[in-house]
Amino acid sequence: MNIYITLDYELFFAQHSGSVEKSIIEPTEKLLEAVEKTTTKLCFFVDAGYLVRLEKYKEQFPELQKDYKLITSQIKMLHDTGHDIQLHIHPHWEDTPYHDNRWHMDTSRYRIHKFSKEETEDIVAKYKKALTDIVGDTVFAYRAGGWCIQPFSHLKDALQKHNIWLDSTLYHDGYKDNSTHYLDFRNMPNKTEWKFSDDPLVEDENGFFTEVPISSTRVSPLFYIKYALVRKFDKIGHQIMGDGKGVGREGKDNREMLTKITPAVASIDGYRLSYLQRALDAYVKKSDNKHFVVMGHPKAATMYSLEKLREFVLDNHTKHNFTTYTKAFNASS
Ligand SMILES: [Zn+2]
Repeated sequence: MNIYITLDYELFFAQHSGSVEKSIIEPTEKLLEAVEKTTTKLCFFVDAGYLVRLEKYKEQFPELQKDYKLITSQIKMLHDTGHDIQLHIHPHWEDTPYHDNRWHMDTSRYRIHKFSKEETEDIVAKYKKALTDIVGDTVFAYRAGGWCIQPFSHLKDALQKHNIWLDSTLYHDGYKDNSTHYLDFRNMPNKTEWKFSDDPLVEDENGFFTEVPISSTRVSPLFYIKYALVRKFDKIGHQIMGDGKGVGREGKDNREMLTKITPAVASIDGYRLSYLQRALDAYVKKSDNKHFVVMGHPKAATMYSLEKLREFVLDNHTKHNFTTYTKAFNASS
């Protein structure tokens, strides 16, 4: 099995974005330390809108000049040491100004579908360029911010034009429909790789795009109850490293999770590592599964998750192939 450890490399999107040091740079260093014994390479989906905004404001604000230097040098170092740098888009950065020493996040246009098709094209072009300016022409994979990739017709031409041909956004049975998110992956193919052209949920052998979905499992309400308890009783072990605040879950989604068995992505965020091995074991049982894609966020790393990640990589690196999209899909350009 090819195993990909993928990270959405980003700040927080509520009123407290967190600092680049505590929410991105330092937890990324810790993640690298956790996997260094096995020389495992990670895949970073870089929130390029943040880079574009830093570029825009850095001449005006010396503190942003410093943030820009920190983040671009870490991205370059990651690329130079064999980790993947790929495209992640949170378009609400377009509406997010910086003043009074902080970012003023406006997530009313959280989904890229709130922008026109022309604006979307411009966003894909600018955001991809922000990455290629740092790492050269090596970016070909995409993950939609908040999994909001549908309807795909809105993005298709823009991604194709900029030669983004691999998507790693979908997860089995994913469904959300709330004030910020819309996604419905309930009818996706039961595979770990397929080609598509107009709709990532519909396989097309001759399609331009390749889907490599995020792996997932199902968790019972007990998981979320335990999660709340461990956080309450072991504050240090389960304290996230990031210093910002995320957009809270909506009541409706919370009720679902606490009353039903719900799909959950394979993840290295915090306590979610407690079900990662079980999720992998289930994928291994199905012989035509080729890829196991784990996601996570540097900002959500905890002492617990770093320790469990270290164990997960050590326990599995001789049995499986930890890899990156670049290595597995042999994309040298
Ligand atoms: Zn994200």
